[in-house]
Amino acid sequence: MTPYLIPISILINSRLKVIRKLNQVESENYRKLQEHLDTLPIGYPATESGVELRILKFLFSPEEVKIALNMRYIPEPIEKIYRRVKKLGISLEQLGKILERMFIKGAIRKARRKKDDGSDENIYQLFPLAVGMFEYQVKRITKEFFEDFEQYMEEAFRDEFARTKINQLRTIPVQKSISPEHNIATYDELKKIFEDAEKIAVSPCICHKAYQLLDKACNSMSERCFTIDNSAVNAVNRGYGHLITKNEAFSILVQAQEEGLVIQPGNSKKPSYICCCCSCCDLLTNLKKLDRPWELITSNYLAEVDADLCIGCETCIGRCLMDAIQIDNNHAIVDKLLCIGCGNCVVSCPEQAINLHQKEKEVIPPDTSQELFLKIMDKRAELRRKDKGIE
Ligand code: SF4
Ligand code: SF4
Repeated sequence: MTPYLIPISILINSRLKVIRKLNQVESENYRKLQEHLDTLPIGYPATESGVELRILKFLFSPEEVKIALNMRYIPEPIEKIYRRVKKLGISLEQLGKILERMFIKGAIRKARRKKDDGSDENIYQLFPLAVGMFEYQVKRITKEFFEDFEQYMEEAFRDEFARTKINQLRTIPVQKSISPEHNIATYDELKKIFEDAEKIAVSPCICHKAYQLLDKACNSMSERCFTIDNSAVNAVNRGYGHLITKNEAFSILVQAQEEGLVIQPGNSKKPSYICCCCSCCDLLTNLKKLDRPWELITSNYLAEVDADLCIGCETCIGRCLMDAIQIDNNHAIVDKLLCIGCGNCVVSCPEQAINLHQKEKEVIPPDTSQELFLKIMDKRAELRRKDKGIE
């Protein structure tokens, strides 16, 4: 008997249909992930260009998207995530390997916590694009990824980042710029932050690295991003950071301050990272595009010029990464809407004509990063209710 032969064209067509269907499901999953990430404290809004999906494709494989859709911002142990993931037909062991891969790629965050019985366990969580997934890409960043990130900043993410006006970072002034009469709070003392840390790692700055790919990087030192405790361990495990002693951390910091970098830790009393930002810094670059940058960086200080002492030499202008100083009538003047109180102008002035002043109302950072993000989340929910006309 002659076997029944299916014409090749029918076979090809049905295979193409299956591939198209799979591609469609994959694209829908990336869109669902964008919507899911948009519920985080710092959201992930859609754009008309779809650049946000290109970024997600760099960060998550199609298999990882399915896992991420079942993860939350609240950190959870693998067993809890598995309860939602097992419908995908994978084992607990497979999930462990995928989570680990996602963590190493910088698509999710991992931490250790103590269980009730005293043993340790890993917990995993989704994290915003910035500060978060973007900064975790130190080892993987490409020119194309950074260009997409910049495009997304312009189209939607800068507004999202600034939306709640609850700041993720704050500025700590250069130590030498603070007069003895200023009663500096312990959370503004870098030495104290380092002394309290159990582990400190240093790694290259992601923005500086991105600008190197574009051949636009400044000449400042590259290895100057500090991560602390759990974040330090994560930076080492992802392969871009290495552990350093407190003394080493302090000498890097002194060099960074001498180079005129802006010192910006996470906005909590126990920051998990300290950025030392140069003119390549994407945060500072984007801040300058806002009308009131100081609203997005917490600082208890502001620069002021004594016109009687100022000789209009313009040295301070070259030191201000925020372009906050201008010369008017042969004297420097500081734009209060741009100044973030870093103190770099103060230490450069040959006439001691510019000083930092403590703002009247002191802003005290939240105790922990988790507390900070919960505050941002509450504010975001309030703004959403307002947008929808719900009081
Ligand atoms: S560096 Fe000092 S003296 Fe020179 S312009 Fe600035 S404030 Fe004036
Ligand atoms: S004027 Fe510029 S350099 Fe001086 S404290 Fe403000 S932001 Fe820093």
